[in-house]
Amino acid sequence: MLMLEMYNCLENSMAGMAYTFKCNIKCKHCLFKCSPKRKEKMKLSEAINYLNVLASEKIKYVAINGGEPLLFFNEINRLLAHAKKLGLKTAVISNGFWAKNEKKALNKIKTMRKNGLSALAISFDEFHQEFIPVENIANIIKASKKIKEIKVKLKIRGLKDLKILELINELSKKTGKHTINVSLESVFPAGRAHKIKGIKKVCLKKTRKVKCSVIFPFINPKGEVYLCCNAACLGKKSVYFLGSTKEKPLEKILQEFKKSRIAYLLRNESIYDLPFLNNNKNKYAGICHYCMEKIGRIKKKKLLSLIEDYYSK
Ligand code: SF4
Ligand code: SF4
Repeated sequence: MLMLEMYNCLENSMAGMAYTFKCNIKCKHCLFKCSPKRKEKMKLSEAINYLNVLASEKIKYVAINGGEPLLFFNEINRLLAHAKKLGLKTAVISNGFWAKNEKKALNKIKTMRKNGLSALAISFDEFHQEFIPVENIANIIKASKKIKEIKVKLKIRGLKDLKILELINELSKKTGKHTINVSLESVFPAGRAHKIKGIKKVCLKKTRKVKCSVIFPFINPKGEVYLCCNAACLGKKSVYFLGSTKEKPLEKILQEFKKSRIAYLLRNESIYDLPFLNNNKNKYAGICHYCMEKIGRIKKKKLLSLIEDYYSK
């Protein structure tokens, strides 16, 4: 029997919340197929309750994404302020639609900072920039340099082509001397990206990363809780689904998360090397693509028995 008593993967950890699946745009690579037509959204009171529970579970950091969370700017600010009261650090992930000029960008960031926001991640790639002008992103970068305490990062989920370099060049020309922090992830065929022509051939890069470092409870606007944000796009039938807050309290779901053998395996093992997966990692666009295709396709009962065998040897 796998011993997990000493393991509490929630302590000092983070959680994610998709506040809404509504988005002002409809990117071709969106994992959750968000669009202006989607209606799902958390009630503010629900989200506040989630924060209370997360804080009581010693979670330190909450990332709020969507959809586009800042379509509900006032509600998100009330949420940030509540998180601050609870001692939680917060990050918001946004597409930057609101930064039409530097003054607007500065006002919005200042308000969020006043309410405790620690970090802002801005999506930037060929798919988002079909809809959002590079100018907006430049406004955010320039404005954020005037507020010392806030970290701004560009979150690129792109393909292996030159468009992203062209976009970064264009952005650098607009931002001048300012340094830009960037995180880079490969688009892989999941969610709406399944429909991108030739996607399997043009994924950004093969990753060398072998362990997942981002296992954390992720709550979607319908109250479904998953082991991670990316794999939440596979839905309730997948092995990543933990439970729904419509059926049981979040506290209980988090207790199950702490004892989850699947979470333990994903966080502690190099999943490319698991002997029970017939792997050919070069076929995949990175660890998440591999994880979702290889682990996500196994039935939960079967996976639990494979894990049991693996640890009993
Ligand atoms: S990828 Fe982000 S910005 Fe694009 S449609 Fe999805 S949620 Fe909206
Ligand atoms: S490796 Fe798997 S569990 Fe980890 S973030 Fe990627 S999809 Fe989620």
